Amino acid sequence: MNCEFFKNNILDFYYNDCNNDTSLKMREHIARCHECAALYGKMAAVLGSADPVKEAAPDAFYYTRLSSKMDRVHQMPVYTRWLMQAAKPLLAASFVIFGVFVGYKIYDKLQQIKPVNANNISADIAEVQLADEYMLKADSEEILNTYFFNE
Ligand SMILES: [Zn+2]
Repeated sequence: MNCEFFKNNILDFYYNDCNNDTSLKMREHIARCHECAALYGKMAAVLGSADPVKEAAPDAFYYTRLSSKMDRVHQMPVYTRWLMQAAKPLLAASFVIFGVFVGYKIYDKLQQIKPVNANNISADIAEVQLADEYMLKADSEEILNTYFFNE
């Protein structure tokens, strides 16, 4: 394994399209060769899987952590990685739906609030008085028969 071979296969390696033998050799190379590890780090940052802040200022253990992270990602079953990819937009969508729902509830509550003033209070009193006046005249059995049993 030389650097030329590594660079030629770096994209296949990133997308886990190498065969097991090549993949193992690539991992061995990246663990030894800091130049290729840095290249891989930059490429992974551009493709969105590595933290670009860490990549900009690598510490002594950066490449060790990078290769162990890569090992973990590569050891994951395909469906787990697919689920992790699928979970991101789903999570974003559920935040949007939740936000709309909360916004609607707040709007709904604001619509229900009546300002307390003399007009509204006297309107409420008039409504209750009207109800009392008419309800007293009607027998409750008559109301049931009229409105619910159509007799
Ligand atoms: Zn190299």
